[in-house]
Amino acid sequence: MLNTTHHDAMVVRGGRVIDPAAGRDEIVDVAIADGVIAQEPHGNAFVLDATGLIVCPGLMDIHVHLREPGQAHKETIETGTAAAAAGGFTFVACMPNTQPALDTPDILRWVIGRAEEVNHCAVAPVAAITQGRRGRELTDFASLVAAGAAAFSDDGTGVEDDAVMRSAFERASQLDALLIQHCEFRAISAGGVMHLGEVSRRLGLPGLDPRSEEAMIERDIDLCRRTGGRYHVAHISTAKAIELVRRAKREGLPVTAEVCTHHLVLTDDACSEGSPNTKMHPPLHPQADVEACRRGLLDGTIDCIVTDHAPHTLEEKAAGFLKAPAGIVGLETAIGIAARAMIDSKLADWPQLIAWFTTSPARVLRRHVPTVEVGAPANLTLIDPCTSWVVNPAEFCSKGRNTPFEGWMLAARAVATIRGRRISRRAPVVGTA
Ligand SMILES: [Zn+2]
Repeated sequence: MLNTTHHDAMVVRGGRVIDPAAGRDEIVDVAIADGVIAQEPHGNAFVLDATGLIVCPGLMDIHVHLREPGQAHKETIETGTAAAAAGGFTFVACMPNTQPALDTPDILRWVIGRAEEVNHCAVAPVAAITQGRRGRELTDFASLVAAGAAAFSDDGTGVEDDAVMRSAFERASQLDALLIQHCEFRAISAGGVMHLGEVSRRLGLPGLDPRSEEAMIERDIDLCRRTGGRYHVAHISTAKAIELVRRAKREGLPVTAEVCTHHLVLTDDACSEGSPNTKMHPPLHPQADVEACRRGLLDGTIDCIVTDHAPHTLEEKAAGFLKAPAGIVGLETAIGIAARAMIDSKLADWPQLIAWFTTSPARVLRRHVPTVEVGAPANLTLIDPCTSWVVNPAEFCSKGRNTPFEGWMLAARAVATIRGRRISRRAPVVGTA
């Protein structure tokens, strides 16, 4: 359950303020007046005790599935955005593989309107590249941008046809829009349910060839070079794929990439117990790929961390490893899992990790870079970096319970988000004055 209260004046007291955009990392109070970061707190301000907590710009996740319209049995905009707020996110970009797909201005406007009604976090829809996500005719990019499309993607599937993808790049380049590709040639991945390798052979499960991802990235980087359109690789997952992006960036091409939290901590060995909650797309890979994902973040090849939050029902996941739909929920475990991967391992520090969830995704989408400076809209996340909590899917705000992290003990957890006058916290309430 999410608990939301409203206050015209607040002070977040004694927290460690980490603001990557301003290069700040200090223990200081943050005053908020009328929804804006203020110099001084009002006399009768509501006090939020942030002692021992990190206070940072609101976290952003640019790859989630909210499932509406059409699949409210899996998730709704209301439950999905409540899960986002519970996980510390104040902004999500939602993918267009709904029913119908997000391929017209009317559907986009409906999603935006619904998200404003429930008002748990900001939502920017990603519009489909092709009508019905069928991979044939382009959608009307200009009218979708006007209706609020944050970017374009056929996520769930990649755009396979070379000529269609080329015209998508040309159109995107004219409008300075961003293309986000789910990189997979199905002729290469066909039938695979997990990474093709030693573990899939041992388990006797059909393997998914990682070249399906790499080949599409290679094709798209070539189109990017010819057209100049901005290109973002969704959920990059293999060492070779990361190397392709590394070279494209060195060449100066407008290419960016994201990695999922689960690809930073789990290997294909996790599939050994046969749980459908270890089945995802792209699949889990061997340790060398996990290490490449971490290195890719550290050297700037990978720009940001996302969840690819993909709720499914218990019944759907109960169909067994072969038949169950791919995907896991991630919003409510993201910060704990990312901290385990990058901070517990001593690879990165908190300012760096927070940048992967704030300034970097904002730059990928060319949105306003969030900050805790005076005069900025109050848009904050409070994180307890060293609590100790056990992942219990029954407590999720999401309808989805499909997590491979059930029972994991994690150190970091988001405890509140602030947006304007609003504080959202998971019950039981913590840290009030
Ligand atoms: Zn995808």
